[in-house]
Amino acid sequence: MHHKRCEILSVGTELLLGDTLNTNAHYLAQGLSRVGLDLFIQTVVGDNPERLKQAVRDAMARAEILLFTGGLGPTTDDLTKEVVAECFGRELVQDKEALDEIKAFYALTGRVMPKSNEKQALMPRGGILLKNAQGTAPGCIMFSDEGHIAVLMPGPPREMQPMFDSEVAPFLQQYSAGRLYSKVVRVVGLGESRMAEMLSDLIESGTNPTLAPYAKNGEASVRVTSRAKTQEEANRLIDPVVAEIMRRLGPHAYGVDVPNLETVISKRCLQMGKTLCIVEAGTSGLAAQRMQETKDADRVCGPCLSAPETAKLAQALNMADPLPGDITQACLGLARQAAARFQTPVAVAIIVTGQQAACAVQVDEVLHTDARVLPARGKDYYSTHATQMAFDLLRLIMTKGQSLGL
Ligand code: ATP
Repeated sequence: MHHKRCEILSVGTELLLGDTLNTNAHYLAQGLSRVGLDLFIQTVVGDNPERLKQAVRDAMARAEILLFTGGLGPTTDDLTKEVVAECFGRELVQDKEALDEIKAFYALTGRVMPKSNEKQALMPRGGILLKNAQGTAPGCIMFSDEGHIAVLMPGPPREMQPMFDSEVAPFLQQYSAGRLYSKVVRVVGLGESRMAEMLSDLIESGTNPTLAPYAKNGEASVRVTSRAKTQEEANRLIDPVVAEIMRRLGPHAYGVDVPNLETVISKRCLQMGKTLCIVEAGTSGLAAQRMQETKDADRVCGPCLSAPETAKLAQALNMADPLPGDITQACLGLARQAAARFQTPVAVAIIVTGQQAACAVQVDEVLHTDARVLPARGKDYYSTHATQMAFDLLRLIMTKGQSLGL
């Protein structure tokens, strides 16, 4: 079957007013990507028949599959079905199955169906009914004479999502030339633009697979995506490219399809049979929080201490001498003392003061440090970047000579 293009049309004035965040478009975009269909344009349009009609006609000129959410309710401003039926040249007729479904939903909730809900049982002739297990508004699929397909789904996400997953996605699969599969290489210690530069020829020449660089929370990643019929076929396309990316980025690439740095560290600690403790000042406890959220935290994490300033950490650790003014030196002292006091072979100390961040990591009595001055971006940024710096240092020490788990 010929490959079709999709568009998403989110209908609802509340979306335009900013009262409701358009999470349906987000959900559907991810869903279409999994199905392997191309999505080039998304539209948000209010509950206004003329503007909706125009949006439908515009979309019909560009795409073959139109996905709508919203405007299927019983009230008069819910008019998606009526407008799309008009643009598609389809008559709406009372559908007995749909009516019975709606009545059954009311019976289940102990209520009598208001007359206005009968409108929801109108279905396009020749269309497909999409049952709504979570509410009253059924969805439907409509076909135009020119080969367009419209999928109409209710607005509430808890009704739309199961309908899309159980009925719409399997239906759309027939129009896709294979599904999209992807692997994500996680990268730390390199900005997104530097990483993209190192991979520029692969990014530019990639068609199947394609490469997409991203940046988020103090690290970068590159998603390698291929269109294929099976996971095995996708792996054959993706794996050599992933291996080449890993080779080029060297130790900066810390894993493939791993959720984050702390998971890599936590796994490694578990393999090596080591526990760790963290003491941190000026990060609002971010490093401890991240580490304690990993799957194996209960087996890997020892005590963690967090304070707004370094002196309080020193006090809590019963350190006799005042800490040196230099924050890298102070980190060294804190890491050594924490390892001794908490009896963990691995200790991490982090200090953030203003734009300066430093960390020290002790693994089996050997100390390492790193420090940097961060650009003026605010507290969350400093905490994130200081934590990344410390975790990256620890990860490099602990995975030295280890394969990064392709
Ligand atoms: P109902 O039968 O509930 O009236 P409907 O299909 O008519 O369903 P709308 O009235 O357009 O849907 O929207 C109902 C609610 O669903 C909205 O108030 C909003 O909370 C939510 N909603 C609608 N569209 C979206 C969207 N694109 N993203 C997230 N939520 C949405």
